[in-house]
Amino acid sequence: KMLQDRNQELERLVEQVEKLSITDPLTSLFNRRKMIEIKTAQNQFLVNEKTFTLAILDLDHFKKINDQYGHTFGDIALQTFANLLNRQIISPNLVARWGGEEFLLLFPLHNGQDTQRQLEALQEACSNDQLLRYRMDSVHLSFSAGIYEVENYQNLEDMIKCADQALYEAKSLGRKQIILYKEGLSVV
Ligand code: GH3
Ligand code: MG
Ligand code: MG
Repeated sequence: KMLQDRNQELERLVEQVEKLSITDPLTSLFNRRKMIEIKTAQNQFLVNEKTFTLAILDLDHFKKINDQYGHTFGDIALQTFANLLNRQIISPNLVARWGGEEFLLLFPLHNGQDTQRQLEALQEACSNDQLLRYRMDSVHLSFSAGIYEVENYQNLEDMIKCADQALYEAKSLGRKQIILYKEGLSVV
């Protein structure tokens, strides 16, 4: 009986550790490690000849928010954006904090255009005056995004590179833009 209890206790602990290992502590979103699941998504969806998309989002001029309101408020801004992502981008889509103020999104059943529409709705929700406030000020958040539509089996690094190129394009076009990757985008 005691041995059984201890085994259950251990199983619970292992579960907790597994959960922690894929969770970002600031935002409670998935972290980078979780995104290894993209490989599974690839197998699943490419067998069924479906496309899926990846999107990288990067908050615009985020340094200014830290500079103007302080790092602690910057953290709150990141949490606020993460909560918005959780509300707007729902299962089976996946959201992870990729690092800093960058987020990686996986849309298993979407093509590029579906994803673009979803992200435009997100941008719209993001520009709500009530989303983020510092005392009497409305603090405006926007993001730039690069989308990559995956049709053939590729390794994760190459897919991310393409999404990153589209993101870079979005930034150079003046930010607050959502750009779909196509051949011939300038290399970062
Ligand atoms: P751009 O529009 O070109 O992306 O401008 P930016 O200011 O967002 O870009 P940059 O990469 O220069 O700055 C990102 C900033 O995000 C710098 C860093 O201090 C801040 N940042 C990254 N992670 C965190 C975090 O966990 N908390 C806070 N408060 N700030 C963070
Ligand atoms: Mg960045
Ligand atoms: Mg940024």
